Amino acid sequence: MQKTPECVYSCMNKVLCGKKITMKEASELLEVDNTHILELTKAANVIRKEINGDSVDVECLINAKSGNCAEDCAFCTQSGHYKTDITKYPFLSKETILNAAARAKKSGASSFCLVCAWKEPTEQNFNDVCHVVKAIKEDVGIDVNCSLGFLTEKRAKKLKEIGVKRYNHNLEASKSFFDKICSTHTYDDRINTAKIVKSSGLQLCSGGILGMGETRKQRLELAFEASELEPEEFPVNILIPRPGTALSGMNSLDPMEVIKTIAVYRFILPRSIIKMAGGREIHLGDLQSLALLGGANGIITGGYLTVGGNEAEKDLRMIRELGLKA
Ligand code: SF4
Repeated sequence: MQKTPECVYSCMNKVLCGKKITMKEASELLEVDNTHILELTKAANVIRKEINGDSVDVECLINAKSGNCAEDCAFCTQSGHYKTDITKYPFLSKETILNAAARAKKSGASSFCLVCAWKEPTEQNFNDVCHVVKAIKEDVGIDVNCSLGFLTEKRAKKLKEIGVKRYNHNLEASKSFFDKICSTHTYDDRINTAKIVKSSGLQLCSGGILGMGETRKQRLELAFEASELEPEEFPVNILIPRPGTALSGMNSLDPMEVIKTIAVYRFILPRSIIKMAGGREIHLGDLQSLALLGGANGIITGGYLTVGGNEAEKDLRMIRELGLKA
């Protein structure tokens, strides 16, 4: 049996001392042979436990406005540029959203994220969202997060004022890969909104998608670029190549590659919630537990925007069985 690569322990100690690892070190970690994957995940787990404790952030989503988005993100079933089989609908009624928020709370989720498929809300849309957010805060009492596309400073301040906790705006991919997956807006547009979120005092949730044809180096670039923004949360999606989208023919990533990537992300983003998001059930199966003991400390439960997922009960049982807390 080969000796554990020294970089695993030297990088772990570096992070535990409050220092940042370099791109070269992150590349060495990602190149650790699969026979040493457990040493890598164990080191990521030590960092997670030491810095973030044993809590797992459990969040439910609602797709509050579906489809017909003007943008052309290659992975997205909700883009109006692709012919997909999703159900499309305008902004849901207040009652429907409140019921979903109440169900999320009852299921044991700690937050509820209201997601809308558009580039940015119209004035009317934004007012409707604010109205519903206030109602959830008053009637349900669960942390409310939003994902509403591009944001102005004024709107970010308004969301903060009405009690939104966290705002999701994913980078989706590294700067060097972004133009392969989107032509209707730029990576810098995304960075701009992420910065507005941070400066308004909202927590920032910003991550990306693995398996869109990017290289290993670009996967690492994504995390390093996100780390510059100091996101409170970094969601990791794994592409589900959906029929009709521009990425429908993509091959799946090796699940062990995903596990290693999540572990290395913990070294790069030691303080962020690293949340397993879309694609975790399909791509990782039973290995989801290894991800939670290998750097990840958050999950989205109860399904995603246009695809189903685990029931919260099943996810919460997994969390408990691993000795973690929801
Ligand atoms: S902006 Fe959002 S909803 Fe619109 S196509 Fe891109 S990922 Fe999909």
